Amino acid sequence: MVDTILECPVCHQLTLKVTETEFEVPYFGKAIIYNATCQNCGYKINDIKFEGNYPVKDKIIIEKPEDLKIKIVRGNRGAIKIPELGLSLEPGPIAESFITNVEGLFQRFLDVLPLFDPEKTKELEERINDAKEGKIKFTIIIEDPTGVSHFVREH
Ligand SMILES: [Zn+2]
Repeated sequence: MVDTILECPVCHQLTLKVTETEFEVPYFGKAIIYNATCQNCGYKINDIKFEGNYPVKDKIIIEKPEDLKIKIVRGNRGAIKIPELGLSLEPGPIAESFITNVEGLFQRFLDVLPLFDPEKTKELEERINDAKEGKIKFTIIIEDPTGVSHFVREH
């Protein structure tokens, strides 16, 4: 635990006491919780930051049914792209963190597809099914400036 004194964003006195606590989260790596309390006006904030240990950009090629079991960890700043299928999941203001496998990732895309063009949805659904059956080969790319998102490769 480390304590730091900063200027309070509310009362502007040098009375904001920030405590950092480090801990480990399975698959997500090191996380730091920041608790800040102003000793003068009582202002409080809490924040959590993940410190990623993985490459900022990584990719895997899916070419056989077993590859559908590869786990994907997505931090809230991570983007996931499947160029061959024209799919992408971009980080947004309410982007959620999750752990899934390739099959589960397809399900996430299929769950939101009906919101768009039904013609394209059908085509994409077929391509996803081909991919699930190992008939087509595709790439999954992860990009995450925080290095939290990654593939879990089991050897
Ligand atoms: Zn204050």
